[in-house]
Amino acid sequence: MPHRARLTVDLAALDRNFRTLRETASGAEVAPVVKADGYGLGASQVSRRLWESGARSFFVARLDEGEALRKGLGEGRPARIFVLDGLVPGTADRVRRSDLIPVLADPGQVAAAREAGPDLAVGLHVDTGMNRQGLSHADLVEIARAGSEGLKPILLMSHLGSAALPGDPRNALQLARFHEARSLLPHLPASLAASAGTFLGPEWRFDMVRPGVSLFGGGPLERPDPRIEAVATLDAPILYVRTVEAGEWLGYGSGLRMDRTTRIAVVAAGYADGLLRRSGGRAETWFAGARRPVRIVNMDLMAIEIGETPAKPGDRVELMGPNLPLDDLAGAIDTVAHECLVRLSSRARRRYVRS
Ligand SMILES: *Cc1c(COP(=O)(O)O)cnc(C)c1O
Repeated sequence: MPHRARLTVDLAALDRNFRTLRETASGAEVAPVVKADGYGLGASQVSRRLWESGARSFFVARLDEGEALRKGLGEGRPARIFVLDGLVPGTADRVRRSDLIPVLADPGQVAAAREAGPDLAVGLHVDTGMNRQGLSHADLVEIARAGSEGLKPILLMSHLGSAALPGDPRNALQLARFHEARSLLPHLPASLAASAGTFLGPEWRFDMVRPGVSLFGGGPLERPDPRIEAVATLDAPILYVRTVEAGEWLGYGSGLRMDRTTRIAVVAAGYADGLLRRSGGRAETWFAGARRPVRIVNMDLMAIEIGETPAKPGDRVELMGPNLPLDDLAGAIDTVAHECLVRLSSRARRRYVRS
C-alpha cells in the first residue's frame, strides 16, 4: 500500500459507461471527449480502452493534446482526432503531421484552413447561443455559397449551454438554430450533444454525441445517476488519529475553533493531490462504512471528523469513488464534476484496473 494518495482508474467501469452511452445514443456515434488528459485520468490509457470498446473518433481541446493522443493511440489505432480549439494560424503542418481534424470556430480559422489546402479535413463549429466560440450563421451561409471550394468539412457541430437543465428554454432555442445551420450544409454529419445532451432525447443526438464527464463517472444532470458508474477512486491513508479538545483550534488561522471535543483523523492528502481546498467544512469522505465530514484541507494534509469509530494510521479513507459520487463532491462546493476530476494531480499515484 503506497503511503500517499492513490488514484485508481477502473477501465472496466469506463467500458460499461461507454456502453450505456452507446445504448442511450441509439445509433449515433459515441465520440469520447478526452481533453485535459482524459479529464485527469490519463488520455492515452482511457482512449486505448475506449478504442477497445469501439470508439473510433475522439475530441481534445488543444493541438498538443491531439499530438499526444495520436502518439498514445499508436499506429494500430487510427482514430479520428478532432481538435476543438480549431486551426490556430501557423499550425497546419503540425495538424497534418499528427493527422488531426481541427474544428474551425471562427472566420479567421476558415481562412487559415483554405490556405492550408482542400485536402485538410476539418469540422465546423457553429455557435447556437453559447457565444464563446463558433462560426455565425452568416459565416456558414458564406461557406455554403462557396461550396466545397478550398475546404473539406466532414462534421458540423455545436455545443449546448444548458443541457443539464432539461426544461431550460435555451435548449430548444439552440436546437432550432442548429437545425437552421444544418439546412445550409445538409450533407454533413452533425453533432450537438455532450454528456447531458445525450440524455435529453433522440432529437438531440444527430449523427454523433460527444460525452466527456459521463464516461468518467459524472451524472448527466449534475447529480449522481444510477446509470453511470464511478471510474476514478481516490483514497489515502490516515497518518494520525487525534483528539482536539473543546475550545482549541484546528489547522491554520483562527476560523476553525472546536465547540466540542472532536476526534479527527489526519489523512495524507491535500490540495496538492487535487482535492479542492474549499471542501473543508462542506464535503464528506467515506471511512469504515459511513460518510465522514471533511473539516480542513491543507496542501498535504486534511482532517476528517470520525466520532468514536476505531481508526489507526494506515487505514485508508475514500475521498472520491463509488461511495462518494463526483456529483455529491461537486455539489458540496458549488462546482461541477468536471472540475473535481481535472484537478486530480500527478502526486496521487495512479493505477489502472479492470474490475
Ligand atoms: C468539453 C466538451 C464536451 C464534453 O462535455 P461533457 O459535459 O464533459 O460531456 C463536448 N463538446 C465540447 C465542445 C466540449 O467543449
